[in-house]
Amino acid sequence: MTNTRRGFLKQSGLIAAGALSAPHFARSSEALLSRPGQKPRRIIMMVSDGMSMGTLTGAEHFSLLTRGRPTTWMQLLNRPGTVQGLMNMRALNAIVPDSAAAASKWGSGSLVVNGAVNHLPDGTGLTPLCELLTSGQWQRGLVTTTEITHATPAGFAASVSSRDLADTIAEQYLKHRVDVLLGGGRDKFDPAKRKDQRDLFADYTQAGYDILRTADELRAAPLHKRWLGVFSPGHIPYLIDHLKDAEHHRTVPMLAAMTRRALEKLANSERFFLMIEGGRVDQACHNCDIAAALREQIAFDEAVDVALEFQARHPDTLIVLTTDHGCGNPGVNAIGGAYARTSPLFKNVAEMRCSVATILKQLGSEPAVAHIQSVFREATGGFEVSERRAALLATFLASKGSVLYDVTNSQVVQVGQLLANHLAVGWTGSTHTADYVPVTARGPGAEHFHGLVNGTSVFDQFLTFAGVEFKNPQLPVTDGFALRDSAVENTGEYQELTA
Ligand SMILES: [Zn+2]
Repeated sequence: MTNTRRGFLKQSGLIAAGALSAPHFARSSEALLSRPGQKPRRIIMMVSDGMSMGTLTGAEHFSLLTRGRPTTWMQLLNRPGTVQGLMNMRALNAIVPDSAAAASKWGSGSLVVNGAVNHLPDGTGLTPLCELLTSGQWQRGLVTTTEITHATPAGFAASVSSRDLADTIAEQYLKHRVDVLLGGGRDKFDPAKRKDQRDLFADYTQAGYDILRTADELRAAPLHKRWLGVFSPGHIPYLIDHLKDAEHHRTVPMLAAMTRRALEKLANSERFFLMIEGGRVDQACHNCDIAAALREQIAFDEAVDVALEFQARHPDTLIVLTTDHGCGNPGVNAIGGAYARTSPLFKNVAEMRCSVATILKQLGSEPAVAHIQSVFREATGGFEVSERRAALLATFLASKGSVLYDVTNSQVVQVGQLLANHLAVGWTGSTHTADYVPVTARGPGAEHFHGLVNGTSVFDQFLTFAGVEFKNPQLPVTDGFALRDSAVENTGEYQELTA
């Protein structure tokens, strides 16, 4: 049993606060404190995708509750030498970014419109960071729990007009010879699943890659080869749907395990850039699913532990922790007499047995009131939905109900709001937000992440560390503030339900 697996089992049940000790920080870590002007030779950028402050705070409460200790991210904030800032992640055409525009800021130093990956509206393709770092002999790695061709990893190593062009993104990773690719999304490489029927597995193998399909293969992968590890056909499934599925965990590695192996491989290189994404935090929040989101956030925090252990052994490493945007803005809500109920209700999050995606699947399209009550009882470990609430949900699921705020007009938000009665966590919707995002940095170069940071400056900074002089073309922002038309309303377009 791996350490990661043990940590995972511990968090799957409630344990007394304080029963586990805080993670051990290497004693030498204080010696890492960066002196201004130092340049890292190793960069680990860690992105918890779509992580609102309510998710980060919720993970802290969840960690205290289920692991008896704070999250490593929160502990870092009080460590000498840690630098804390906020980052502006707006897109070229909107103050609310999607993951493609956000990652493009870091990956090309330019603002692009939402949906584009390092590509300007005039058709100009931008040169991504991973391509530029080759000239400085840097090895490059991308690790995620989403499909490896998804927007965030793509933002560092691809240039396409739309994030939907995943088949092309898979080809561009090969062209740039990205040294480590670990995540989900096997279908994007598979000739039986690709639109052009190209056998990318054969092409990657030809180019010297080892193709990895299981956690066991990842453990045994030879360090001298490049790696393409794709551990599921699509996104790596939500942890909460596999809490007691030992077979699943033999096949699909946890984010911490992927991080550990990526670092073992890249440690052989003098210089490297590694992006680690907890990609399903965002998707869980799109589903207004706090239990799924917090499990993913804790798994991300376990990967942070691995990165810090590496940094303790390799003091020339910069670690940057951040997110690309908020999503759903979950918050523990109470007023008056209900303040005192928040703690016991929040404890119910740890009792959730499956994702909201699974709940919706079990509900079906026109469920009866009794069926709704039974599905929620089973999924939550005992929550008795009242007949009145079950009837309201039944009406909505049969497309006969409505809401006043269009952004909340979706099945996932209604299920999320119903669960909020039991979990005390409410949502502003299932959408991204314009909030500035937290950024925490540690190691040489960390001082550049202090205060209010513009997302595009991350690219410039990484290139400066690498000694590469380059600037992608820029366009001025094009906000639609002129659109004061009364016909312009906020709508809840997002309907994708990710299992
Ligand atoms: Zn999203």
